[in-house]
Amino acid sequence: MAQASREERKKKVVEVLNQARAMELQAIYQYMNQHYNLDNMDYGDLAKNIKLIAIDEMRHAEDFAERIKELGGEPTSDMSGPVEKGQPVEKIYPADSKAEEDAIEAYNQFLRICMENGDSITAKLFETIIDEEQKHLNYFDNVNDHLKRLGPAYLAKIAGTSASTGPASKGFVIGGGA
Ligand code: FE
Ligand code: FE
Repeated sequence: MAQASREERKKKVVEVLNQARAMELQAIYQYMNQHYNLDNMDYGDLAKNIKLIAIDEMRHAEDFAERIKELGGEPTSDMSGPVEKGQPVEKIYPADSKAEEDAIEAYNQFLRICMENGDSITAKLFETIIDEEQKHLNYFDNVNDHLKRLGPAYLAKIAGTSASTGPASKGFVIGGGA
């Protein structure tokens, strides 16, 4: 069997980059919606961290777009799925843990597809971003754990905390996390 042409291999990589970008775009809108909700409920610290994570996802979406451009593709502006609005706190954290797990699983598959198509640069980009998604997952799991073990007592401690991320935020991972 003849090897796929360079153009065909590039196309496959652009395809997975755009799938990943669509997941990031969905995450950005989902996390922004949660950030406003949590802010309304006056859970400042929770709102702040989700806002920072949304900023990380924006950076990921941009990193994927840059690489798509380098490969001669067109970055998608579609989201991978709909945004759920008005989720209660108890729904937000299990949903977000699952979203990060799904991203890690998908990006590992995409990384393999990049390697199969001879693109170690894009594979490395996925590897870097998988590390960051793992940090998001750890944070969401941690909050989930507190909510399960302490419930209202944990939320009472959070109520009234500041939602401020300060000026020119670097996001969650680069800014140093929760
Ligand atoms: Fe991301
Ligand atoms: Fe993430």
